[in-house]
Amino acid sequence: MKPEDFLILKETYCDIPFEAIIKTDLLRLGISFSNEALEACKAAKPKSYFIFSFDRTAQKDLSQLEKKSAPEEIALIGGPFDFKRTIVSVRVNPESPYRITVGAIHELPLQLFFHDEKICDILLPSFPDYYAQPLANGKPVSDITPTIEWGYLIYITAFRLCQYFGAEEECAFCDINHNYRQQKAEGRSYTGIKSLDEVIEALQIIEKHDPQKLSHAYTVTGGSITSQLGGMNEAQFYAQYAQAIEAKFPGRWIGKAVVQGLPDDEIKILKDSGYQIYHPNYEVWDEKIFNHVCPGKTRYVGQKNGSAAFWLEPKFSALKKSFLILLPASRWPNLLASRISKLRFDLRKRV
Ligand code: SF4
Repeated sequence: MKPEDFLILKETYCDIPFEAIIKTDLLRLGISFSNEALEACKAAKPKSYFIFSFDRTAQKDLSQLEKKSAPEEIALIGGPFDFKRTIVSVRVNPESPYRITVGAIHELPLQLFFHDEKICDILLPSFPDYYAQPLANGKPVSDITPTIEWGYLIYITAFRLCQYFGAEEECAFCDINHNYRQQKAEGRSYTGIKSLDEVIEALQIIEKHDPQKLSHAYTVTGGSITSQLGGMNEAQFYAQYAQAIEAKFPGRWIGKAVVQGLPDDEIKILKDSGYQIYHPNYEVWDEKIFNHVCPGKTRYVGQKNGSAAFWLEPKFSALKKSFLILLPASRWPNLLASRISKLRFDLRKRV
């Protein structure tokens, strides 16, 4: 998008809140930060890399300040377009035309620019007390039970890898395994499989240091389990976390499982373990593109059926059957729409 396109976009899509347009574009192109802005961000809640990198470049190409100080989220607010408060997850991209600076007159609050055009002011999430309290084994809470959505959601990526592994199997739009490797290479505490004990301990820390009870829900998720993990199938593996959490903190948070579309007997395992929300992801692809982009799924799920459309059917039927198992408000299906990014392929080549 050229600088002059900025206002044309606003006029062309005048029935869409401008905040939504900018948010979408920020997620697409990422955000760059001036060093002064990153200095100001040091006191805010940092990115936890809670499941994927989301960044538009590899960790090794970021400065130390960008790696350590980029905030988990920002809130767009006010400015010349009078933005309503809008939360945006941060994807770092030093080359992005969207830049956060301390403003032309070098004053807070931080400001978001598109090239030279000021868009709005920026608010930062405060550093939560519980991020300053490590577990007994020294791991930070931000590794085991990071929070997102301005502290509302505890995000437990119980399994930070996917059993679709390597270029021959991983979905091409996904960097879960690549992100795990790069975070480990950076020396971050980044646990591959989280034990029940450390999850419970980290939640105890949050409970103790979240006196306003800003956290309301937890998500348990992770990569696909194509066979078994620790002797368990996917539903059993992710069910054990809700079971342990609900036994220790009954009803304290709303539990959500973000897993594949599963058959009804496995959805029942999730429900019986204590989850209140089943949040399946399914991706809709042209069969040819699907085979190219999801080679592992093609082989494991598609090989029986030979087509992506047929592969989708059990997922939809799993969702349909889940209507019988969970209350209507307890299903949150995602429609993931994505353009295949050449950058993803380039990133892989650089690993
Ligand atoms: S199955 Fe899910 S986690 Fe695994 S590579 Fe594909 S999108 Fe990523």
